[in-house]
Amino acid sequence: MNCKYDRPRIKAIYPLYRLNEMEFRIGAQLGITAEFGDPDGHLWELASRLDGRKVEEVIKEMLELFPELTKGEVLEGIQLLDNEGFLEETLDGHESGIQERYIANVNYFSRYTGTEGNRFSFQKKINESTILLLGLGGGGSNVLTLLSGIGVKKVIIVDYDNVEESNLGRQLLYREADIGLPKCEVAAKAISEMNTQLIVESHNKKIETPEDILQFTDGVDLVICAIDEPPFEAQRTVNQAIIKANVPCVFGAHQVSRGRVFTVLPGKTGCFDCLNLHFSVNDPKFIDQFVGFRNINFSPPSIAYAPSIFQLTSAIVDEAVRVITGYAPPRSLSTQYEINFEDGSSFTHPAWDRYTECPTCGNGRSDDWEIFEYYKTKNKA
Ligand SMILES: [Zn+2]
Repeated sequence: MNCKYDRPRIKAIYPLYRLNEMEFRIGAQLGITAEFGDPDGHLWELASRLDGRKVEEVIKEMLELFPELTKGEVLEGIQLLDNEGFLEETLDGHESGIQERYIANVNYFSRYTGTEGNRFSFQKKINESTILLLGLGGGGSNVLTLLSGIGVKKVIIVDYDNVEESNLGRQLLYREADIGLPKCEVAAKAISEMNTQLIVESHNKKIETPEDILQFTDGVDLVICAIDEPPFEAQRTVNQAIIKANVPCVFGAHQVSRGRVFTVLPGKTGCFDCLNLHFSVNDPKFIDQFVGFRNINFSPPSIAYAPSIFQLTSAIVDEAVRVITGYAPPRSLSTQYEINFEDGSSFTHPAWDRYTECPTCGNGRSDDWEIFEYYKTKNKA
């Protein structure tokens, strides 16, 4: 039997412990704990030796300890633990070039990698990525802190507001002394101090048209849309830009006691205008609601409570990391991922498809769809 292993080990994130003479466990978290019945002690002795030593050494020791076993049987035991997701190759963090500050991330990714994967590769992808972050308010400012923490290579930030006292309860990047200063400047300085390796490009600019965004999308791996004013119009403008630039975008929106995340992969998933079409086709009251809402020019006070905002921004950044690294499947492709802050639950909405008749990502015309008459942002398609 050929051996595909080098230095397989029980993942460092999982404990290996005996329950009694006959049984042992790997893992302690609900859902990722396995119990092994092991009356002859073979598997326990094997698992105990999977600590980073060479696989040849493990086999040799096992055959000395249990002469009745064959090499093939020892390898079968290793394979069994591997199939259960408890093994990883022992890779040296220093050789990978990943810095100490990101090693805890790598350990998190370890859960999602087997012996054939490389848990360092996810962090490497993050360290090489460039993110365009639109908006530095309640969502964007906290998203930015997370991006700095996880260690993206470069972030381009765009906002036109100044820091106000009313921001300080939830936009924790800003200090009292920053009141009156442009958010993009304050934010750039603050995160440059948090992470000196982060390349920050900041623009004090109001986003009103897709062109306002397209000037920043060169070399960008992913866009995060954290602007929501004016409602729907802002997302539509961003959507038009990211489709044109062919860059994925994670959108986040905070409601009263819930938050939503959805992601558009241009050319692959339905876009924001496809979502408009989806509702137009499937919800008979959608246009009435849209028009009714638009007509009152509803302008609520800021509804924002820092603990809720953090749940939403965490979901946005995790989604961005999923799209960039693929460590786990993104949760909001062609669907809206919704978090209920009241009870801590989350769910995904019914999926929406790409429409070939979409004026933005397909070959349709805006004029053919009633819904787009009510948007101020006109699509030139
Ligand atoms: Zn579309």
